[in-house]
Amino acid sequence: MEDAKKLREELMIKNETIWERVNEREKEEIFNYCEGYKFFLNSCKTERESTQYILSRAIRNGFVSLDEAIERDIKLMPGSKVYFNNKDKSVILAVIGSTPIEKGMNIVAAHIDAPRIDLKPTPVYEEAGLALFNTHYYGGIKKYQWVAIPLAIHGVIIKSDGHKINVSIGENENDPALYISDLLPHLGKDQMEKKAGEVITGEGLDVLTGSIPYPDKEAEQRVKLNIMNMLKERYDITEEDLISSELEIVPALKVRDIGLDRSMIGGYGQDDRVSAYTALTAILSVESPKYTCLAVFADKEEVGSMGNTGLQSRFMENAVAELLALTGNDGDIYVRRALANSRLLSADVNGAYDPLYADAYDKTNTPFLGRGIVLTKYTGARGKSGSNDANAEFVSKVRAIFNASGVIWQTGELGKVDVGGGGTIAQFVASYGMEVVDCGVALLSMHSPYEVSSKADVYMAHRAYNAFYYNA
Ligand code: MN
Ligand code: MN
Repeated sequence: MEDAKKLREELMIKNETIWERVNEREKEEIFNYCEGYKFFLNSCKTERESTQYILSRAIRNGFVSLDEAIERDIKLMPGSKVYFNNKDKSVILAVIGSTPIEKGMNIVAAHIDAPRIDLKPTPVYEEAGLALFNTHYYGGIKKYQWVAIPLAIHGVIIKSDGHKINVSIGENENDPALYISDLLPHLGKDQMEKKAGEVITGEGLDVLTGSIPYPDKEAEQRVKLNIMNMLKERYDITEEDLISSELEIVPALKVRDIGLDRSMIGGYGQDDRVSAYTALTAILSVESPKYTCLAVFADKEEVGSMGNTGLQSRFMENAVAELLALTGNDGDIYVRRALANSRLLSADVNGAYDPLYADAYDKTNTPFLGRGIVLTKYTGARGKSGSNDANAEFVSKVRAIFNASGVIWQTGELGKVDVGGGGTIAQFVASYGMEVVDCGVALLSMHSPYEVSSKADVYMAHRAYNAFYYNA
């Protein structure tokens, strides 16, 4: 009989946290790395703001515009760095490799939209001396979590002459915040008997916006008028201008370290800006790769990847066609080969095991906070419905890369079988024939106004994506 301890060591997966496996210097590196991530989360609360941030970092790092490269017919060479800005709401960064693009690319694809509450096209109304914004929520939210917290408004208003007005109110300490009210417990007897999903309704998510009436006592709807007048003075807009706007209500909460040991990060929009930030820093550190590397930052994942900024559209395919043309291969067959031969990490978050809600998880196949980046073979609901279910061969390749590069990783699915489920962009990009697997950070309180990640996992995501770029 062999020594059991030795045998365990040899045969079983080690369920240690990253904290137990790194030295003091690496610990410091983890904490330092996450300061940049916290800054990103604080400054980018929408897909448009994320796009601007990503572009500015890329340009500073020597990336040139794809449109400009096309216009000036710049020949792309190994090492060339290109960005493609898709309508200010999604971005692709590319570093050209030494191998022809048609041999396949190494791609990390994240999304930069997050669950939120959008304004309706004619949002402003007045009721009982209060001005409110009518809203329509975006993505999968638990509505009851969005009431009685400070909210900010971000987005754009496009005037009829095309002039774009950027809006951001509620983030600075001196800014006013917005707010959705809840019923006081004293009168909440009936409310508290409702199911959690019905406690706050979609139409009940209206945002408190003002309460001072316009001075002219003869006017009607004076509180609404006063707000419209303030918007006119500040942005020179009318009610009709709001019809061509994208205004998003998000939590007006600053990112904080969580835990007495500061090991975690609390903040809004970590699904999936944690993947976006770590994919960004990973590709920015790539120099002279063997295969062409792509970082894709997509919009609309939270509503099914629809629209021309989501990954069900062809913006990635079109960008790859342009890259090929600029390297001298402009036939459709090259595009098909390049995509079919590619390897892609669908960089998206997973639900970390939560001891407070132990019932929702199968402890033997769930990711844990702080145990590393999560390799998720399949997502989906019920019998893996809507899942990409990665090929075992590709999972093998990715884990070999991680192991060889010292990336600490774990595996796990999203909760117990049949308790729910979810999907990612994996299924859509897999339609090109490329190899795809989900790979991202595990969060607590995913899709809530304040999600929690482990600093160690965030740092490890950067390491993982970087290793994938060089070695896949
Ligand atoms: Mn996501
Ligand atoms: Mn999500």
